[in-house]
Amino acid sequence: MKLTTYTGGICATNGYLVETPDGNLLVDAPEGIAAWVAARGVRVDHLLLTHQHFDHVLDAAALQAAGVRLYAMEEFSDAVTLESLSRKWGMPDPVAAYQIDQRLLPDPTRPLELCGLRFSLYHVPGHALDSIVLHLPEFELAFSGDTLFAGSIGRSDLPGGSHRLLLDGIARHLLTLPPQTRLLPGHGPATSVGEEAADNPYLGNLQRLN
Ligand SMILES: [Zn+2]
Repeated sequence: MKLTTYTGGICATNGYLVETPDGNLLVDAPEGIAAWVAARGVRVDHLLLTHQHFDHVLDAAALQAAGVRLYAMEEFSDAVTLESLSRKWGMPDPVAAYQIDQRLLPDPTRPLELCGLRFSLYHVPGHALDSIVLHLPEFELAFSGDTLFAGSIGRSDLPGGSHRLLLDGIARHLLTLPPQTRLLPGHGPATSVGEEAADNPYLGNLQRLN
């Protein structure tokens, strides 16, 4: 399995390319990632969306047009992409509409199998209603989307946000992963569960509770 990080768009959003002998997939679709994979000559089979805020889905329609299958927890809508906010913030191009081919079911007892990989899925709302963490136990890594970052956590002041729900989901689904688990977030550098459990200032209260 080969993992490559792409960062693009006005929010410097991370997308991840996962290449395997059994096919290739992307996690999230920030602006510019469709051209980036095309330039690399990589054929992408699947696109998994950690959530559908506009900066994570700007290239989803282009990828779908190129034959990529789309996966997310909720159907596409102007509400999940925060379209009205993105307009207010002066996004030059609102999100081109796409269709989710398969809804993700956050049931850890029923992993999602794609390209020979087994993803355990955890629903961690609070930043977005449809935020999902994609965990690959075999590779000791998790795509955390905008839930947990190196030294920070997702903002919870957007529509559908809840600071309490976010902290609760992080405590239940992320801090319970093995500490060596590498976390690949939607923004900023990679980190690990152990590092965030020890040092993340937003999780101080959780540590005291545990
Ligand atoms: Zn977001």
